[in-house]
Amino acid sequence: MLMARLLARMPDLRQRVQTEHVPDAHGNCQECGVAQWPCELYEIASRADELQLSA
Ligand SMILES: [Zn+2]
Repeated sequence: MLMARLLARMPDLRQRVQTEHVPDAHGNCQECGVAQWPCELYEIASRADELQLSA
C-alpha cells in the first residue's frame, strides 16, 4: 500500500497518527470522531510500522 510506504518514511507523522487516533470510551476514533476504531489512518500507520520492521 502506497500510503503505508510513505508513512514508513515519515516516522514523526506516523507516531502522531498513532498518538492521536486512539479509541474513546465508545470505541470510536477520538480524532476521526464518528469512525470506528481502528480507523483507516491508524491501520495505515500500523502497516507502515510493519513495513519498517521488515525493511
Ligand atoms: Zn482516526
